[in-house]
Amino acid sequence: MVFFLLHKYVRQERSQGEVIFVENTMEWSVRNANLEKVLAVLEVYLSERYANICNCPRCRNDIAALALNYLPPHYYVESENHKDLGSPWVMVETAVSEAIDRVVEYPNHPSEPQVA
Ligand SMILES: [Zn+2]
Repeated sequence: MVFFLLHKYVRQERSQGEVIFVENTMEWSVRNANLEKVLAVLEVYLSERYANICNCPRCRNDIAALALNYLPPHYYVESENHKDLGSPWVMVETAVSEAIDRVVEYPNHPSEPQVA
C-alpha cells in the first residue's frame, strides 16, 4: 500500500514548511527489454510453431511470466536511439519454449475446454 501511495502521489513543500501531497503525473520511460522480446517471440510462436496449444489470456500470461523468470531483467530508459537491448534472441527463444512446455504440461485451468 505504501508503494502505491508513493507512486500515486508526490510530496511537495509549500512556503512556511507546509507539506502537501499532489497526484504524480510523471510518465515513466523505464522499460524491460526482455519483456518486449519475450512478447515478440511469444506472438510468433503461438501463430506458427505452437499454433495448436491453448492461446487463452491466462496461458499467454503464464508463459510470459515464466519465460521472464528464466531471463535476467534488463531495464532501460526509453530514448530516441534504440539499440538491440536485452538478452540474445536465442536465449529469449529458449526461455519461451521452456515456458510453453511447462504451461502445456501444467496449465492453470482444466486442460480440455469445457463443452456445454
Ligand atoms: Zn489456456
